[in-house]
Amino acid sequence: GSVAASGDRFAKFEKQPIEGRLFINGEFVESKAGKTFDITNPATEKKSASVYEAGVEDVDAAVAAAKAAFPAWAELSAGDRGDYLFKLADALEKRLDEMAYLDAISMGAPAHTSFLNPMALTALRYFAGRAWDTHGDSSLNTPGFVNITLRQPFGVTAGITPWNVPVAMVLFKMAPALITGNTIVIKTSEKSPLAPLIVAKCCQEIGLPKGVFNLINGFGRPTGEALAKHMDVRKISFTGSTLAGRAIKKAAAESNLKNVTLELGGKSPLVIFPDADLSKAVPAAAMSILMNSGQACIASSRVYVHADIADKFTEGMKNAMQEMGKSDDPLTSTTAMRGPQVDKLQFNRIMDFFAYAKEKSLDITIGGDRERDQGFYIAPTIISNAPEDSRVMKEEIFGPVVCINTFTDEDEVLKRANDTEYGLYASLFTRDISRALRVAKKMEAGSVGVNCSSPTMSFDMPFGGFKASGDGRELSRYATDYWTELKSVFIAL
Ligand code: NAD
Repeated sequence: GSVAASGDRFAKFEKQPIEGRLFINGEFVESKAGKTFDITNPATEKKSASVYEAGVEDVDAAVAAAKAAFPAWAELSAGDRGDYLFKLADALEKRLDEMAYLDAISMGAPAHTSFLNPMALTALRYFAGRAWDTHGDSSLNTPGFVNITLRQPFGVTAGITPWNVPVAMVLFKMAPALITGNTIVIKTSEKSPLAPLIVAKCCQEIGLPKGVFNLINGFGRPTGEALAKHMDVRKISFTGSTLAGRAIKKAAAESNLKNVTLELGGKSPLVIFPDADLSKAVPAAAMSILMNSGQACIASSRVYVHADIADKFTEGMKNAMQEMGKSDDPLTSTTAMRGPQVDKLQFNRIMDFFAYAKEKSLDITIGGDRERDQGFYIAPTIISNAPEDSRVMKEEIFGPVVCINTFTDEDEVLKRANDTEYGLYASLFTRDISRALRVAKKMEAGSVGVNCSSPTMSFDMPFGGFKASGDGRELSRYATDYWTELKSVFIAL
């Protein structure tokens, strides 16, 4: 049958050894202390792989390799650097199935419907094509001078990535870092380091000069912390929780004051005005909170719907979430959009939110419990009319759990939508163009969706957060600004 046939697509990887070493100076190596840690398949709750954990001495080795590689890499033409990234994208393209398999067995992303890795390759090619576009400008505004600005690489840079989009998060940092002439050391998340190691494999395959890209596995402490504190690392780009972002900024401040870019969490509002086209708003709202099992920094987790259409909207959401939110085994199902949550820790965190909601007698409209006896599956959940100051409205849940509240007045809903420490993504549905622009302008968020919601993004548009959701931007022509130092050169005539 078709299921068995498509099952074979990934079955071949079950017999292949899984790479779990560190990639330092162009070679796969064991960690110096020989320490390893296990990766668990969240669908089966069984061990799926074991990987080496980089200790402080391995971080030192990776940084030293990046430092040695920097001068020659920075001297290449931008086009030559871009060409390496085009080759890398082609090599990765051949391994999309393998990466989908590795994401499935480490973080539970459905392999057959995998779309985030192909998306990441488009971003990689976007940056490769932009290699020539990083440069300074000139000024004739001072009599007797021609002044110019130079955009120069930092030197050794670092990236620390989260588990929820494992390969994309690595490429979003590596690509702009490399085209601008930096070298980099990336520490991936301890929960999903497997697919990113394929990026390292492909760097080796295409002959990327040794030490330009180094990839290490490990936890926040000691591995991530050692990178954040390292005196030879001049810039660090971090994506993850606000808590860890704070620790990294502090480590940078207390070491060499390295440049820090942060992409952090969110609690994104979605406002549905009474004139909204519900046939578009409902699926957009459901997709936003279900994508990647709700494990998205940009998920629209707080929905404000106008009281006049609230019943109709909520009824639509109940159906859409149950229909679109069907979960299944990440390796065998050819249709499921959703698998289990990444691990027991995240599963328990979400179950704690449910316990809180029950204790506070909140209205759990659908879901509010686990799904299946085995695996870290969570049922698509709607919590209605929770108080604004409740934990479910304030904290990032990172699961398929949406809060739906009602409103009647534009000013009032804007105040409530903005009443959060976060500011990553906000969206609204209305047919009134003036209202759309008025509200979009006032929303405190790095990205705003009008008649659409997250995950709507575009590689040529900057991505990042207001307020505690971050500092700096990824993607677009602005991304390279964050990977270069700006130098003013004054030339007296
Ligand atoms: P996390 O903060 O727990 O971990 C992220 C990374 O930081 C991991 O590699 C981890 O090992 C490392 N880390 C943890 N503590 C550290 C420390 N003290 N020093 C150095 N490194 C440390 O986050 P997570 O659970 O992997 O990811 C989920 C979070 O990431 C959510 O809050 C989500 O919103 C956010 N996120 C943001 C974006 C964005 O672009 N804004 C994208 C994806 C995820």
